[in-house]
Amino acid sequence: MKNDKIVNGFMAEKRDYYEVLGVEKTASAEEIKKAYRKKAIQYHPDKNPGDKEAEEKFKEAAEAYEVLSDPQKRARYDQYGFAGMGGAGGYSGGGMSMEDIFSHFGDIFQGAGFDIGDIGEMFMGGGRSRGQRVRKGSDLRGRVSLTLEEIATGCEKKIKVRRLVECKECHGTGSADGKTETCPTCHGSGRVTRAQRGIFGMMQVQSVCDTCGGEGRIIKNKCPKCGGQGVVRDEDIITVNIPAGVMGGMQLTVPGKGNAAPRGGVPGDLIVMIEEEEHKDFIRQESDLVYNLLLDMPTAVLGGQVQIPTLTGDVKITITPGTQPGKVLRMRGKGLPRIDQYGRSYGTGDLLINVGVYIPEKLNKEERKLIEQLQNSPNIAPGAGEKKSFFHNLFGI
Ligand SMILES: [Zn+2]
Ligand SMILES: [Zn+2]
Repeated sequence: MKNDKIVNGFMAEKRDYYEVLGVEKTASAEEIKKAYRKKAIQYHPDKNPGDKEAEEKFKEAAEAYEVLSDPQKRARYDQYGFAGMGGAGGYSGGGMSMEDIFSHFGDIFQGAGFDIGDIGEMFMGGGRSRGQRVRKGSDLRGRVSLTLEEIATGCEKKIKVRRLVECKECHGTGSADGKTETCPTCHGSGRVTRAQRGIFGMMQVQSVCDTCGGEGRIIKNKCPKCGGQGVVRDEDIITVNIPAGVMGGMQLTVPGKGNAAPRGGVPGDLIVMIEEEEHKDFIRQESDLVYNLLLDMPTAVLGGQVQIPTLTGDVKITITPGTQPGKVLRMRGKGLPRIDQYGRSYGTGDLLINVGVYIPEKLNKEERKLIEQLQNSPNIAPGAGEKKSFFHNLFGI
């Protein structure tokens, strides 16, 4: 499994997420969870020390689970494949750190017949201590509007966003002197237990500590610039690489470019919605383009050369004599790049030319005369040729 080759801004040779977990496309959330649990145990680094391949498989499974366990991400993946997951220069999940992966584990192994304490020791070794919450910055949404020309080639777009970024004054710690103290309310656990009257009498209820917001630590001497938050709002210009062949309504994820999290958490993502600008000449149909060509009567009858636009400039095409309105001409490879469910491009769509014939509405005397003459000519009426042979057969004349 190689994840390092980048084609067209996408990772090449990525395995299908369902294949990675060994489940059907129709698998339920529970089946997906189970399958991931199995893989996570099989390839866990503690069980396979120094085995690079196992580590890759471990990460691959985590990435697949991250997408398939989230109904929204899963739907996007089902519809667009890796393209729906794509961000600046590739899929975001590739950047999952071991810590990110371990942070899911509490949830995964709950009720799995393991002792959570064991799992904690087994899998969370070196991680943060239990009970504390990892803050994740919120996702930001942006949109880019693209012309068909930009979609044809792929492009780079800059998006201006106002987002929370790390406070430079305190380096994101929120503390003026860099010091934090253990929270006096929860004594560092981030949780408080209180008694509450429920239907079965008094119950012990655990909740996040209000004093420290679950972080377990408080700041006495708050940074004056960010008020202890560790983040400030600022304007930022973000470059987004748009791969060729994208469609209006697709979403690209730029990992880590959403809001920064307070006091050193994980930043959120920037989710960019693709919009398509209307084109003066073409209508898009998936990867094909449609152009409506209106011929004058003589050219439709006699044939000739006409000039038509393409996304890469005007070209001349030949109209054969007797071209009927409604005919569709196809120019292969003059459409938009096709992308498969993995976000890889495979060939290019076509340009479809819908031929119509212009019927003049206003005529001068001369023209009127010419058309009237034509009207009585033998080959002008529809089906003139067939009628002749019909009578010929019927009466033998
Ligand atoms: Zn600050
Ligand atoms: Zn606390």
